[in-house]
Amino acid sequence: MKEKAREARQEQRVIGLVPTMGALHAGHMALVERARKECAPVYTSIFLNPTQFGPHEDLSKYPRPLEADVEKLTAAQVDGLFLPTSEGMYPQGFSTYIHVEGLSERLEGKSRPGHFRGVATVVLKLFEIVQPDYAYFGRKDAQQARIIQKMAKDLNLDVELVICPTVREADGLAMSSRNAYLNPEERRAATVLFRALKAVEKELSAGVRDTLALQHAMRKVLGGEKHARVDYAEIVDAETFEPVVRVGRTCYAVVAAWVGKTRLIDNALLEMRDGAEEIAVTL
Ligand code: AMP
Repeated sequence: MKEKAREARQEQRVIGLVPTMGALHAGHMALVERARKECAPVYTSIFLNPTQFGPHEDLSKYPRPLEADVEKLTAAQVDGLFLPTSEGMYPQGFSTYIHVEGLSERLEGKSRPGHFRGVATVVLKLFEIVQPDYAYFGRKDAQQARIIQKMAKDLNLDVELVICPTVREADGLAMSSRNAYLNPEERRAATVLFRALKAVEKELSAGVRDTLALQHAMRKVLGGEKHARVDYAEIVDAETFEPVVRVGRTCYAVVAAWVGKTRLIDNALLEMRDGAEEIAVTL
């Protein structure tokens, strides 16, 4: 991988990288398509990174449909698929980790201790191996994207991050490899995250700015779904992911919930228009 990327760099080509854990769906493919528009070569990595999974998380049962993934990437005409092994990435004695302080301790980081340390470490390694000009991430994992952005800035990396919109199923459920775990009943219930975010949009358009009221609206929707158990439902600053009292600058409404045994996350980006008179909600 290093050799291939080095050759491309020597030819002054613009390298795009799309890091994934595989089980590719339309959300991943949207990143690939965007990268293809802006870069050549485009490399996709598939690596089920063990260091970002907790001891009781779903690493062993995470879907690994490699053949189907290769077919999708071939059809999308990516220039290379990088498939590192766990031993290659974490050889015996590996002991260097990246910790983006503060941001990594909140929300997803609080619920999944060590998760972002694993994410930041593997992404920095991928960046070092490929040295892409652009790297593509989904807004579905907004906190992750922000942490990588912070890491890139703090460590003077040359890569530019491109954050792409969340791709959803027809009923609003954000696409995720983990949706495959849901049985039909849970699959129906899983739209509750989207519905909770829609409730925020409705309150905002009615002029509500107080985050307690907005959180209450989210929790009310989540509480009405018997198959769902809320982990967090908050309104946070889009840069720090710290809670805010009022929506008066760019924020995220973020939600995480268990649907059966599957943990799902989603968010809505809240941006000021006309000096905070109006708020644009992007789901
Ligand atoms: P993953 O394979 O879950 O690690 O995801 C790889 C990349 O795809 C990450 O940057 C995710 O944010 C992004 N991604 C996952 N699901 C979606 C989606 N529904 N829409 C857009 N991007 C997504």
